[in-house]
Amino acid sequence: MGRAFVYVILGGGVAAGYAALEFRKRGVSHGELCIISEEPVPPYERPALSKGYLLPEDPARLPSFHTCVGAHEERLTPKWYKEHGIELVLGTQVKSADIRRKTLLTAAGETISYKILIIATGARALKLEEFGVKGSDAENVCYLRDLSDANTLVDLMKSCSGGNAVVIGGGYIGMECAASLVINKISVAMVFPEAHCMARLFTPKIANYYEDYYKSKGVKFIKGTVLSSFEIDPSGKVTAVILRDGSRLPADMVVVGIGIRPNTSLFEGQLTLEKGGIKVNGKLQSSNSSVYAVGDVAAFPVKLFGEIRRLEHVDSARKSARHAVAAIMEPDKTGEFDYLPFFYSRVFTLSWQFYGDSAGEVIHFGDFSGSTFGAYWVNKGHLVGSFLEGGTKDEYDAVAKATRLKPAIEDVAALERQGLGFALAI
Ligand code: FAD
Ligand code: NDP
Repeated sequence: MGRAFVYVILGGGVAAGYAALEFRKRGVSHGELCIISEEPVPPYERPALSKGYLLPEDPARLPSFHTCVGAHEERLTPKWYKEHGIELVLGTQVKSADIRRKTLLTAAGETISYKILIIATGARALKLEEFGVKGSDAENVCYLRDLSDANTLVDLMKSCSGGNAVVIGGGYIGMECAASLVINKISVAMVFPEAHCMARLFTPKIANYYEDYYKSKGVKFIKGTVLSSFEIDPSGKVTAVILRDGSRLPADMVVVGIGIRPNTSLFEGQLTLEKGGIKVNGKLQSSNSSVYAVGDVAAFPVKLFGEIRRLEHVDSARKSARHAVAAIMEPDKTGEFDYLPFFYSRVFTLSWQFYGDSAGEVIHFGDFSGSTFGAYWVNKGHLVGSFLEGGTKDEYDAVAKATRLKPAIEDVAALERQGLGFALAI
């Protein structure tokens, strides 16, 4: 059995939702577009899962955070897809893809064919087993990538109130989940291999600010080490985390955030890969002209820095998806994707944004003992990256604008003195 569509989006996450909105805006006809997703619900704003979804009171629940509310656009509910004649094939995993024949085979045995395919398969969480540690399947160990993981985490938090959690990993998941655990009245110990949290983006000075803030909320940091094993009781529950130096951290629950791998396996050997993702051009088109890739799985040219990059953030998923659809529907009117990398996070009452590239010399500015501070990155004589904590909308817009312009910086000391004023004056 089989069905045929003009456009198929494989994956039903953030990028799929924004692609669907763009298709609708550009006039896709009823019955032309299909979204196939392993998840049982239509696309939603994944960032909510480590923030509003985990609040002890009045938590965010679907349908409130379906895409595209995160960009203040329409909310794409199941009814929306129906009204616009967009077929949702949910709870369905695609098992194989045949790029030459332009077909996808689902786990249910259905063949779905396309004229144009958009790959939006995102990524999967890395498992501890991939680092030689067993125990991921214990009932009180969880990861966080999708709604079902978030439900597991919520249930665990409810059953562990007043208890101890160990958070493995000092990246985005680790930092955001640690904050949520504290808000849910659970004591947190964070374990990660680097010298400070968010090591790939934060400077030691920036990291120190957040670590001090977390410590003031009772979070313990165990840095420069990794876990070596779990202590597991006869019922199969983890009771403690054993570190490489032999020390033991009691645990009622464990949250693991140790990075991701893009879901490329269906296309290995069929499409060109780079940076762990599917390599695409400035129109988000892969090495096969009928196949596009967007979101976490796409490695695309970041014009501003003259490099192919794979980004793992929601803004890039939204914008790359919209650009791909524009390139598909109106190829003559659509130029090359020209993206300014943008990352952000919100924890407790803190909130930061980062634009550009964290390369070169760092110039910190502002009041690190107060609530507004930041940093600029200057590489080869130009401003290439900006970080700001506690800014207003106008201030964030200003650092974004300044970063995109990549102004020449002749006097680093002057930039340091001007601080945020430098961006505001541009
Ligand atoms: P995803 O949203 O992961 O969607 C991929 C979809 O493809 C999923 O529905 C998956 O089930 C489906 N799929 C994969 N393989 C198959 C298959 N073979 N068959 C069928 N379906 C398949 N970024 C930020 O910038 N800010 C944040 O605050 C932020 N918070 C986050 C919080 C959490 C908990 C997580 C996990 C991520 C967060 N991110 C954040 C990152 C952001 O959510 C991702 O960059 C974004 O979701 C990527 O979108 P995507 O569509 O490429 O992939
Ligand atoms: P990150 O890549 O942000 O962080 C992973 C962390 O785990 C790093 O500190 C890493 O160290 C560490 N680590 C790696 N291996 C081990 C190990 N064996 N033991 C202990 N620590 C280890 O990934 P996350 O899992 O935090 O996030 C997953 C995805 O979700 C990312 O794509 C992220 O962008 C996205 N996300 C984004 C958010 C946002 O933008 N606000 C919020 C939540 C998720 P090392 O650097 O040495 O490898």
